[in-house]
Amino acid sequence: MTRKIAILGATGSIGRSTLDLIEAAPDRFEVVALTAASNVDQLAEDAKRTGAKLAVIADEALLPQLRQGLTGTNIHAAAGSVALAEAAAGEADLVMAAIVGCAGLEPVMAAVHAGKTVALANKEALVTAGALMLDAAARSGATLLPVDSEHNAIFQCLAGQSGDGVARLILTASGGPFRSSTAEEMARVTPAQAVAHPNWAMGAKISVDSATMMNKGLELIEAHYLFGVPAERIDIVVHPQSIVHSLVEFADGSMLAQLGPSDMRVPIAHVLTWPERMATQVDRLDLLAAGRLDFEAPDEVRFPAMRLAREALGAGGAAPVVLNAANEVAVAAFLDGAIHFPDIAALVERALRAMHEPAPRSIDEVIVLDAKARAVAARMVAEQGA
Ligand code: NAD
Ligand code: MG
Repeated sequence: MTRKIAILGATGSIGRSTLDLIEAAPDRFEVVALTAASNVDQLAEDAKRTGAKLAVIADEALLPQLRQGLTGTNIHAAAGSVALAEAAAGEADLVMAAIVGCAGLEPVMAAVHAGKTVALANKEALVTAGALMLDAAARSGATLLPVDSEHNAIFQCLAGQSGDGVARLILTASGGPFRSSTAEEMARVTPAQAVAHPNWAMGAKISVDSATMMNKGLELIEAHYLFGVPAERIDIVVHPQSIVHSLVEFADGSMLAQLGPSDMRVPIAHVLTWPERMATQVDRLDLLAAGRLDFEAPDEVRFPAMRLAREALGAGGAAPVVLNAANEVAVAAFLDGAIHFPDIAALVERALRAMHEPAPRSIDEVIVLDAKARAVAARMVAEQGA
């Protein structure tokens, strides 16, 4: 039996890795829907090549161009947020949620409400709406499968166990490109240096998040929601080789780790056929070539983003939404050359201190709060640049 797949964010790094696996196993999968923000040509080409039934472009102004790209096919072209939600809630069995940022929240929630199996790469959606998403999944019967390599590792190590038997979760972090840089060196880094990750090839936003280590902060919040473990029992350990993707410590003192190559196709393959395993053509991890595994304590002074995320999770309510929104704005400003690298975390901290909003009670309230926090952060960027 083939599994019907929709990919939200098909043109991105995770989206392309997902297509690569799916197209190598055509007897196992059927692509039903693909979406993208603005890359019409790539979207049309992918839809034609995979025989998708629906292609959705987020930017409505690009719909005529998408229609043109799909002329002579039976592929339905659509645009805008309603169409994105329809792609997520349509006939797919499994929805790969690979949009970057809080922009992916509404389509992810559409998939959750429709009771889908949701392969979640879009960590910002869970960070901003964790409790609401879990409630909705419990009501609809949706299954959330973690794609993020650390959370996928923990999911594999837990193998269904939860409760008192689980003592700690240990998230590994590569430390990013500036692991051994001084604060003075980090003050001068360029966007090109920040997106050049030592171990992983990823989209620009998550690459910068890895460089500030906000990525690990977001992953701490993500782990808390996915596995129901309080933040005090989630550790972050720097492991520069990115071979151990994360670990679980159990009550009896056993520790289980998941190891593998630094290739997102491994965790993606795991969720695509879960609970079965599919074969992949990924280069195998060579333990003898790797030789050693190093572990270091994270430095929250040079990388304050981890502390900010832990504080935001502790504060709860609006704080994780503000943390995420301010970070998205700050990262975009850094990539545009408007602010310096250390300003990213500083700006997030200022936004967290400036905003005292009530806890959002619905996804609509999350979206309103996200917009408000973006406006506050954008104003801070403008003042900084002035
Ligand atoms: P990317 O920038 O390469 O791709 C993002 C995708 O989302 C693209 O298809 C883009 O068209 C679409 N998109 C962007 N903005 C949109 C919007 N406003 N509306 C609709 N679609 C939009 O990003 P990525 O690296 O593939 O990351 C995707 C998600 O997966 C992120 O949340 C990231 O944190 C997470 N993730 C990525 C990796 C990785 O290796 N790349 C690893 C772990 C987790
Ligand atoms: Mg990760």
